Parts: sequence; C-alpha cells; structure tokens
Amino acid sequence: MSFEKTSVQVAVRIRPITSEDLVNLPTRFQKSVLSTAPYAPNQVIVAGEKKQYFSYDYIFGPDSTQKDVYDRAVLKLIDKFLEGYNVTILAYGQTSSGKTFTMGTSDNDLIDPDDKGIIPRAVSTLFSSMESAQYKTRKFSIKVSFIEIYNEDLIDLLGEGDGESRPQVLIREDSKGNILWSGLQEIKVNSVEEVISHLTRGSLNRQTGATDMNAKSSRSHAIFSVTLAQQKFISSGGSSPSPQPDQKSGVRPPSRSNSRLSRRFDEGEWVSVTSKFHFVDLAGSERLKRTSAVGERVKEGISINSGLLALGNVISALGDPNKAKHTTHIPYRDSKLTRLLQDSLGGNAQTLMIACVSPAEYNLVETVNTLKYANRARNIKNNATINAEEAGWNDVEHLQTLVMRLRNEIKILKAATGVINSNGTSTNGTTSGRTTPSLNGTTTPSLNGRTTPNLNGRTTPSLNGRETPSFTKRSSTPSFSGIPITSQHSQQLSQQLSQQQQQQQKNQNINNKDIELLEDQLQQLKRSYIKLSQRYAKTSAELAKHQDNDVNNNNSNVGDRNSLSVIKEVDDDDDD
Ligand code: ADP
Ligand code: MG
Repeated sequence: MSFEKTSVQVAVRIRPITSEDLVNLPTRFQKSVLSTAPYAPNQVIVAGEKKQYFSYDYIFGPDSTQKDVYDRAVLKLIDKFLEGYNVTILAYGQTSSGKTFTMGTSDNDLIDPDDKGIIPRAVSTLFSSMESAQYKTRKFSIKVSFIEIYNEDLIDLLGEGDGESRPQVLIREDSKGNILWSGLQEIKVNSVEEVISHLTRGSLNRQTGATDMNAKSSRSHAIFSVTLAQQKFISSGGSSPSPQPDQKSGVRPPSRSNSRLSRRFDEGEWVSVTSKFHFVDLAGSERLKRTSAVGERVKEGISINSGLLALGNVISALGDPNKAKHTTHIPYRDSKLTRLLQDSLGGNAQTLMIACVSPAEYNLVETVNTLKYANRARNIKNNATINAEEAGWNDVEHLQTLVMRLRNEIKILKAATGVINSNGTSTNGTTSGRTTPSLNGTTTPSLNGRTTPNLNGRTTPSLNGRETPSFTKRSSTPSFSGIPITSQHSQQLSQQLSQQQQQQQKNQNINNKDIELLEDQLQQLKRSYIKLSQRYAKTSAELAKHQDNDVNNNNSNVGDRNSLSVIKEVDDDDDD
C-alpha cells in the first residue's frame, strides 16, 4: 500500500482591526503589530522590541476576503475530498481572532454572500461538483453531523432534546484503528440549503458563555462533519475514467435499466469510497489567566485548555522531527479533542490549520503564541490514502497477483469456449445438454473477494461466485444475462479468439526481432565504450607526464612560495 506523504498545511489569517477593538481596547494598544512583505508573501513579521519572522504555507492579510482564503487554501481540498481523502480544517486562535468568521460555523441566511465562510462555500462547491459532467457517472450520498466538546463532554448539536437531555456521543476505535463516533445523529442531506439549515440549528445550540474577553466568547470546540459516500469506477490503470454506456470497452455503470449488463472486469471495478470532511472551530486558545472566569467557568476554562494542551502535545510529538524519531506514543488519548482528531493529525487525512490572529498590540503575547503553535504544526507528516473499499490499487504485488488471476481466468474462458465450439453445438442451434460455464460458475475473482454494491442499490454481479443474480442459467439454454448462447455465437467467439491468438503470435515474433536488434546495438556500444576508455586512459597518462615536466621546471619558484606561507602561518599564531 503506498501513501501520499503530505505535511499539514498551515495558513495564518490576520483579521482587520474591528470596530469592537476600537471600543474595547485601550487606545495606546490598538495599533497593528503584524505586517506582511510583498517580497516574502509567505512570511509574517511581528513588530516588537525585536522583529520576529514566521513562515507558513499561506498568509492572509487584514485585507484578504473570504473568497481569497477559500480559493487559495480550501478549494483544492474539495477535489481531494471527492477523490476519497479525509480532509480536516482546523481554525485555531484566541477568542475573537476570527475563527468562527473564517470557518463560517454560525452561518445563516442573513449573512452577506461575500462574508460567507469556508463551510457554506465548501458545501456549495461540493454539490455543484457532484452535479457536474465530470462526476455524472458516480453516485453520491451525503450525511452531516455537528458535535461540540464542552467540559470534555461530547454533545450532539443536531441531536434531539436540549442541554443535559441531548444524547451523549461515545468514541470508539475499530479493529483497523479508524475512529468511530457512536450515538451521533448523522443526517442525510440532498441540497446546500439542507446542510445550512442543520449548521444554523446546531450553532444555535452551541454552548457559549460570557467572559470579559468577549461578550459572545465561545468556550467549546465545534466540529461540523460531512461524510461523503460514493460509488466510482476505478480502471485497472489506476485512473477513474468516466465510463460511457456506448464506449467501445463495453464498460457500463450498473444501472436499473441496464439489465443486459456487460462489464469488462479486466478494465476496472466499481468501488465504494467513503470520505469525511471535518470543519473544526476550536475554542479560544488564550490562557485562562486572561479571563476573569469564576466558579463553573473556571472549570470550563481548564477543560478547554486541556483539550488544546493535548492538541499541542500531539502536534509537538508528531511535528518535532527529532522527537518523532524516538516517540512511538502520540498522546491522542489525553483529551476528547485529540481522540476525535486522531485520524486527522498524522493519520489518514489532508489537514489544513488556519491560525487566526488579531493584529492589535494589545493581543501581542497571544498572537505570538498562536504563531509559534502554528509553526510547529507545519512539520506534521500525514499519510493520506484514498479510503476506497478495494484496497491495493497502488500495490504492485496486489496488482501482479490480480493479473495472474485474470490471465488464469481468460485461459479457463478460452478453454470453455473451445469446448463449446468443438463439442457443444447441435443442429437445432442450442447446446446439447452441456451447459456453457456461466461466469459465476467459474472462479472469476472479485478484487476483494467481496460484493461491491452497485449504483442502483441492488447487488452488482460481483464475479465472485456468490451474489450474481443476472449471470445465472435461466433454461436449458445456457445464457449470459439471459441472452441465449447459440452455436453461431460460439463459432464467432472462437473465430475471434483464434484471430487474436494469431495476432499475439505475430506481435511476439516482432518483439523477439526487436530484442535481437537491441542486443546487437548494445554489444556494439559496449565495444566502442571500451575503446574510448582505453584512449582516455592513454591521454590522461600523457597529460600527467607533461604536468610533471612543468612542475620540475618551476620547482625553485614553488620553494619560495612554500617558505612564504610558513612565515605567514607563524605571523598568524603570534596574533592569537
Ligand atoms: P472567534 O471565533 O475567533 O472568537 P469571530 O470569528 O467571532 O472570532 O470574530 C470576532 C469578530 O471579528 C466578529 O465580529 C467577526 O465578524 C470579526 N472578524 C473576524 N475576522 C474578520 C475578518 N477577516 N474581516 C472582518 N471581520 C472579521
Ligand atoms: Mg468563535
């Protein structure tokens, strides 16, 4: 199994000074301490006693629009998601740094289209991509869920009931190490509007509490997830063409009306792919001491910090190349947040962290903390793989075994056709007693030995000899999908086969000749190489001889230079 190595992509977004800042912050601390330079677009400069420079994959300055952020950093992740990768976007930063604004977590109908954040934009791209010509041969189904982590409790924001009565969500790990969230409402959706209505409903349910940092300070982590299940065709070559019903190859997507299903299994397979997109709006990263939290709120603050603390430790364990070499233990289990994100950090996902910062001098300490935190995240290496059910598409060994099995299969089929041709015909045009081996009677392999669900929800002829309803014999006449195989058919088939064999033999002869010719050329090249190396050795020897003569002629001068350098070295020693 091969993996695509990707590090976590990190973007920094600097929000503008807001009208709230002008009211809430002391005037002398309102000035901006962050800048970007056009000659170093990936760098952010922090003004202070000493200037500090930080580099990231993307920097979005105070003038950047929601569209800029989306187009540059997010759009390509939607393609990855459609390809079958898990994708996670994390918004990190202190309260009121712009996390919720950037993510669009509390989206609703009243928000100006230009101010729409990442979630509504991503959902809109997703739905339009699914309807585009490129994906018209795939079948998709989408579910959404919305979860909150508050005081280390998992709360289903789309669940029935309020507060305490809302169902608890549990985290489990399956035998393959995949993280599963049980007890969670996953709601099937069919349009952008439906998704947004769930997002709005969930964000209204989100726990918020007032501290003096920000009147609407969000004290919890919110994770909005989109699960995409799709059936797509993977050709043996590894690409995903759009098989058309009238293509020469005969590859057709299975469909209800397509009762005469013809499929060339040597050209590919229908696979089910499930991918998850997590949009994570983290709680404020500020230190507790900056809030005047009391009573219950102190507990909240400590819990929330413990989630982010664990996230920091996980990032540190994964991100520090020296540590990572010796560390086999990554502390995912230290908090619910890291446990939930286990797949997304150093696991099987494409991850983007957006570190949100305020430019105001008042927030300088938190801003530098955020920038440092985000910098460490850049070192994480994720192993992103497509979550296809049919594993092994990039595995040469697997493919070689597959080719061997398919060759064997062709041999069996050819032999079977030969038998029909020589023995199986009768004068009335049907086979005499002997049944044509139907494809399901042979050991035609399915790629994983399991049944791949087909596009119309029924069982696809799996070629695995188990669930193959339409390949069975209907009457005494052997049939393939209910079409009788007559002697004429089998004669035609065997003629085609022998023509193919002749052509193969011809190709083989041509290949043999080519090889002989190439071998001749190789021998000739070897001979000229030996000659050239001998000539080169001779010329170098002559050259060395000439150089020796020159050295002998100039010997007295060299002696002068040597004594000069000795004097120079003695001088240098004196200086020390
Ligand atoms: P957080 O979720 O990090 O606590 P918010 O997203 O709620 O912060 O942002 C705090 C305030 O700043 C909100 O009023 C928001 O509209 C505003 N804001 C944040 N980022 C931007 C931006 N890039 N452009 C304009 N306003 C912004
Ligand atoms: Mg927020």
